[in-house]
Amino acid sequence: MVSRVIPVEPFDLVIFGGTGDLARRKILPGLFRRFRAGQMPPDARVIGAARTEMDASAYRDMIRDGILKFGGEESRDSESLEAFLQRLDYVAIDATGEGGWQHLAGIMRPGVVRAFYFSVAPSLFGPLAERLHQHGIADQEARIVVEKPFGRDLESARALNQTLAAHFREEQIYRIDHYLGKETVQNLMAVRFGNVLFEPLWNNHYVDHIQITVAETVGVEGRGGYYDKSGAMRDMVQNHLMQLLCLIAMEPPFRFEAAAVRDEKLKVIHALKPVLAHHIVRGQYDADGDGPSYREEAGNPRSFTESFIAIRAEIANWRWAGVPFYLRTGKKLRARHSEIAVVFKDLPHTIFEGDQARHRNILSIRLQPNEGIDLFVTIKEPGPGGMRLIDRPLDMTFATALGEDGKDVPDAYERLIMDVIRGNQTLFMRGDEVEAAWAWTDPIIAGWERRNDVPKLYDPGSSGPDDALMLLHREGRRWRDIRG
Ligand code: NAP
Repeated sequence: MVSRVIPVEPFDLVIFGGTGDLARRKILPGLFRRFRAGQMPPDARVIGAARTEMDASAYRDMIRDGILKFGGEESRDSESLEAFLQRLDYVAIDATGEGGWQHLAGIMRPGVVRAFYFSVAPSLFGPLAERLHQHGIADQEARIVVEKPFGRDLESARALNQTLAAHFREEQIYRIDHYLGKETVQNLMAVRFGNVLFEPLWNNHYVDHIQITVAETVGVEGRGGYYDKSGAMRDMVQNHLMQLLCLIAMEPPFRFEAAAVRDEKLKVIHALKPVLAHHIVRGQYDADGDGPSYREEAGNPRSFTESFIAIRAEIANWRWAGVPFYLRTGKKLRARHSEIAVVFKDLPHTIFEGDQARHRNILSIRLQPNEGIDLFVTIKEPGPGGMRLIDRPLDMTFATALGEDGKDVPDAYERLIMDVIRGNQTLFMRGDEVEAAWAWTDPIIAGWERRNDVPKLYDPGSSGPDDALMLLHREGRRWRDIRG
């Protein structure tokens, strides 16, 4: 099945940090895929901007290399690739200096959407925003895109919001959380709000608990210096896991549009209870035969930063009172596996013999690998021999259900960049959401800093520290397996 692609309006997209890792690995390969899919109109342009002096031709060579390396199979279509590269231009600019800005102002076209991707360190957001205005480059409709990390606590997030607000209205600011751009995450909303089946069960009468797992197999590798000042809570929970939790837990918005969805997400964050110390488990991966420990990789032998965290969270409202939300994320775990699992309660009474607890309905929403949704239901094992029950998933794997190898499904960055051009903020974080998320996160971090909490060591390739297993075991529950 070939998906329907609606071209977006003509645009000039300037990528500050256009020579950086994110631009070469994600943004430009993503734009190339949209170009190939026919979504970029003929006069759309992408302008890379960074301090390095080079001309447009050298920039195209650099991006060609990036797309060939990171663009997957489609990058072998050399005709399309060369046509795409012709859309690229480059301007040498220092975000904190004055050179290059007049040139950029001169090449921006009137009458097309103007978007500015700040793919640079957050300390440059202010200087960029200021100069875009000083030189008359950003008009009233211009959009800016910013990346995580959006602050490292409430205070710094507020300061960043204020910096951006000095030059742009909230409707112009697109804070990316690429988890929200995933096909499955949107499908979660389609499943919840497009079917009559689930919403009546989506509450503390029928849901026993919810698990959100984002497991990675990689360590901190080259990012050790940055990561050691951040840790799993700031790097993953405050943003990605929190966003997933909001979408799972929010009330039905009155319409699927930005303000309504973001209002409902914000209410969830406000309703999160403070987390008790014994509902938090932090871990750090140890060395193993093949690889260094976290501390070695981070270059900090006395580091107390967590590369793993598990939290038992609770939402204080009528829908979710008493339902635990278990969140867990970590590096160097058994498999690359991200899943939201809604685990329903046991039957009130079973008419069958045997262990009824084994037969729980679970709605599993897989973000990676193999994006899709499974609803585990109990059926009779086929064949003679009496009534034996088994659990089987009703499988909605997108790759098989929606297109040959899932090729037509855009990846998160592609979708989100096209949403910026369309002016659709539904899948982006609003400033007040980010601040509320930090307001919940800050006391948790302050708590373990006060207690001088030392993360528990765990073996690379495991499911994290044993204490994380106990977080559920002591309540008669168990984590779902981490498997690739
Ligand atoms: P990077 O590889 O270090 O690239 C930084 C870019 O900024 C380069 O193009 C650099 O080029 C440019 N730059 C630095 N100082 C500048 C200045 N004063 N004026 C203009 N340009 C300047 O970083 P990155 O990994 O691409 O990350 C960019 C941002 O996205 C960071 O905030 C990062 O936290 C965030 N992010 C990255 C990823 C990822 O996967 N890489 C994921 C999520 C979020 P010149 O040196 O030529 O100026």
